[in-house]
Amino acid sequence: MVRTRYAPSPSGTLHVGGARTALFSYLFAKHYGGQFVVRVEDTDQTRLVAGSEEALMRSLAALGILWDEGPDVGGPFGPYRQSERLSQHQQYAAQLLQQGKAYRCYCTPEELDATRKARQAEGLPPRYMGTCRNLSSDDPIHGSGKPYVLRLKVPLSGVTVVDDLIRGQVTFDNKILDDFVIVKTNGTPTYNFAVVIDDWAMRITHVIRAEEHLSNTPKQMLVYEALGFSLPKFAHIPMVLAPDHTKLSKRHGATAVEEYQAQGILPQALVNYLMLLGWSAPDGREFMTVKEAENLFTLDRVQHTAAVYDQKKLEWMNAQYLKQLPISVVKEAVKPFVEQMGINWGQGPRLESGVELVRERAHTLKDLAEGMRFLWQSPTQYDDKGVGKHFSHPEVARRLQTLATTLGELPADKWEHDTLAAAFDTLASQLEIKRAELIHPCRLALTGQTVGPGLFELVAVLGQQETVTRLVNVVAMLQDEGHKIPTF
Ligand code: GLU
Repeated sequence: MVRTRYAPSPSGTLHVGGARTALFSYLFAKHYGGQFVVRVEDTDQTRLVAGSEEALMRSLAALGILWDEGPDVGGPFGPYRQSERLSQHQQYAAQLLQQGKAYRCYCTPEELDATRKARQAEGLPPRYMGTCRNLSSDDPIHGSGKPYVLRLKVPLSGVTVVDDLIRGQVTFDNKILDDFVIVKTNGTPTYNFAVVIDDWAMRITHVIRAEEHLSNTPKQMLVYEALGFSLPKFAHIPMVLAPDHTKLSKRHGATAVEEYQAQGILPQALVNYLMLLGWSAPDGREFMTVKEAENLFTLDRVQHTAAVYDQKKLEWMNAQYLKQLPISVVKEAVKPFVEQMGINWGQGPRLESGVELVRERAHTLKDLAEGMRFLWQSPTQYDDKGVGKHFSHPEVARRLQTLATTLGELPADKWEHDTLAAAFDTLASQLEIKRAELIHPCRLALTGQTVGPGLFELVAVLGQQETVTRLVNVVAMLQDEGHKIPTF
């Protein structure tokens, strides 16, 4: 049984890179009919952010990355919060100490710092010099009450080879691994120690994680070996970089899943976009649900080079989803945005009709809500250029008045696209003008804008009464010599 995990530290929100890592780990497990586990790595209490665990889990769930076992649902291989496994970590540390595979190190931070600086001055990399490695068991320091850490005895020569499922064999010289710390002075395990015990205890078969952890893997392999645990398989997935190939950060725009949601990116689009950050389907298709990706996902199609984040592509993808998802789904998703704008969509045009009318032109749910605003809120300002262009003709007030009268006289049950188009045609020829000379001022009067959805579709959704009212209002403004049309 394949078992993978995502192991976030609860020190913030779920970001693009983390979400992508979680997704790949999830897809891999599901592709092989396995299980996906969430483990919260909360050992470093100094980095904990209140509410972060819940926020991370909420974001995963919103993307459809669902865990079989985790801190909230439990499971047979818990606990699923690292801090709750402390006694087991300490027990294994004691075992290594007793077997002589780990040792107590009493060097103070000041001493270690001095060595580091001295080496740095000589152009040498930082290294623990093994000062306490060979203290004899009856050395009086042991009973002195001096604080100590536990270090793993790393072989002084040889290499550790990581057999990575994506990158192949990566060789590390044991000399550079140092006798690294496995338990800190306060008795808590370090990441490289705890992660091994957790992954082993949770029967994780494939450790799939971000490339930045590749250099930790040889250390963890030495811990596996010291504890006599069998190794899982490892796969390190490439980084997600910003367009300028620097580390992706806030200054490149939104990076947290919650922020994307607030911007109006649909979870379906975001998760689809994340799939393509470093992976591609065998047939090159770009649009996929999570379920479809489960069937297609294998690690051999994960690219070796860094993936580059592209906000424009994400928005483009979101636009496609806005166009193609069932209206009912888009309606539910856009509702909170519409409500945020203070729109009472329960009255007037139907929200579904608004979505259908505007979604072709929207990139985000925010755009969509904004684009629909005019359906429930009559314009208070009009496009400045448009006013100059479409409201300046001396006949425009009379034309719009005639249009209002004509439209007001249409039978209510004929208030639909084709009848409206025909009414505009007839009126234009009666007035001996081009249809466009009615359409442009009419659009501006109804929406305040010069661009937008097709006019007859728009008028059909806006409704007869509201259309006529808005036209009449504009006519009144145009006829009032002392009144200047408010513009933006
Ligand atoms: N807690 C680690 C992190 O957030 C997890 C690393 C791992 O997957 O082993 O980076």
